[in-house]
Amino acid sequence: MKKVQVLVIGAGSAGRYAAREAARLGKKVLLASPPPFGGLCILKGCMPSKALLRSAHILYETKSELNALGLGLSGTVTADLPSVIRMKNEMIAEMADSARTSVDGVPGITLVEEPVTFLSLESALVGKEAVHFERAVIATGSLPKIPTIPGLSQDSVLTSDDILELEKLPESMIVLGAGPVGLELGQYLSMLGVRVTIVELASGWSPDLDPRIVSGYLDSLERRGLALQLGFRTERVLQCSGKMTLVGEVGGSGQRELTAERIMAATGRYPDVDRLNLQSAGVELTRHQAVHVDPWLRTSNPRIFAAGDVTGALPVLNLATYHGEVAGYNAASEIPKKAEDRAVPTAIFTEPEFARVGLSERQAHQRHLPVLTGYLPFSDLGKAIVNRQTDGALKIIANRLTREIVGAEMYGPGASDLIHLLTVSIGLSATIDQYQRILHIHPTMAEIVKYVVDEMAGAL
Ligand SMILES: Cc1cc2nc3c(=O)[nH]c(=O)nc-3n(C[C@H](O)[C@H](O)[C@H](O)COP(=O)(O)OP(=O)(O)OC[C@H]3O[C@@H](n4cnc5c(N)ncnc54)[C@H](O)[C@@H]3O)c2cc1C
Repeated sequence: MKKVQVLVIGAGSAGRYAAREAARLGKKVLLASPPPFGGLCILKGCMPSKALLRSAHILYETKSELNALGLGLSGTVTADLPSVIRMKNEMIAEMADSARTSVDGVPGITLVEEPVTFLSLESALVGKEAVHFERAVIATGSLPKIPTIPGLSQDSVLTSDDILELEKLPESMIVLGAGPVGLELGQYLSMLGVRVTIVELASGWSPDLDPRIVSGYLDSLERRGLALQLGFRTERVLQCSGKMTLVGEVGGSGQRELTAERIMAATGRYPDVDRLNLQSAGVELTRHQAVHVDPWLRTSNPRIFAAGDVTGALPVLNLATYHGEVAGYNAASEIPKKAEDRAVPTAIFTEPEFARVGLSERQAHQRHLPVLTGYLPFSDLGKAIVNRQTDGALKIIANRLTREIVGAEMYGPGASDLIHLLTVSIGLSATIDQYQRILHIHPTMAEIVKYVVDEMAGAL
């Protein structure tokens, strides 16, 4: 039987980082993943969705925001959807190529485009070849989850994978789920002219956040065309004359119906473990059917580690790559390191953007921290007024005793970039007094952080 030192299963973001780290530590790595090469982020996730959103946002701004800047347009601006999709496909093909060169041919790594199935505690079938491994890393990611609703068949509902390929748009769409994927792709469709209703089961959107941030953000999305229906408990779907009707109720107020041409499910993803034959490898699952890992990312089989979406961790790229690196390190070294509990910044790339990092005020209270907060709307910020982009607000949360910044939440222009000022502060355990001493360029959007911190430090 062929022998390998480290077998990495899945060449998405987590798998590629794991393979590179194990090879850097001198191990011979076999990285196996069926085609197409690239993983979720490049092929069907972060990158294609952002490329499509950019086209939609420019279309929307040109149509709806030029007047506010004293500009006009003679003629019309239109979206040529097949060209938009071609642009996106060319871009992801380039990215997938560049991701391939980051592992293929790298000293120590052999890439094979084959699926893996475990045979025993220390062997697996890679394609048709049985391989003995000293250590392995599972990084097989996730697949779109379609909710079980009477009347909603698997083939009648679209997923994010389908939306990214649509070259002809329906006239109306119901999006199930108000998470990042539902809001981003819902806004993409809506800005291209589809009548979109986002339906969410939970009655509160991110209830641990400040209600001013939540309602400000959701109102901004509605002003730009999305209809939001929170607290909608779907009971069944009726399909009739080319239309789909969602029957349900909102907060016990009687039956409600919502009708659209198509329905998209953005109700999360499930760990992709079905083809792995984990039982024969002695790898246990959590109750959510994710691969169970300890703080060293070790599974119930001490030879096997796991990283990325397959572990049920927060499904974001920054965590998948960080955990991939730790799993690769631990698979290659005798003294393992813990995956640190780092503050994970996250964003929703709608217009305006939403972003957060660290603790909300409510979470800080739950941890019995003494809390000090600051808040400012973008309408009080010079650069936002100049740009005519005043939709937004920032809230910062600090420990009142140590004065360390512990969290931030915001919506507004460039929120996904601005949140890094707070992420760096949290990462370096900076206090509001240290932050306050840092000069910021005027006029910039980044000044909003300085103004909030100034207010918190009692300088105003
Ligand atoms: C529409 C959408 C937008 C997103 N946008 C963002 C964003 O803006 N920012 C962000 O941080 N995150 C975003 N995400 C989430 C992000 O893409 C994922 O968290 C991340 O890509 C997960 O990486 P991974 O390596 O765990 O899994 P994947 O990238 O899914 O890699 C898993 C790989 O394993 C392979 N595989 C599966 N089974 C086997 C097997 N048996 N043998 C061998 N190989 C196998 C698969 O083919 C795949 O190549 C988005 C997700 C979606 C769906």
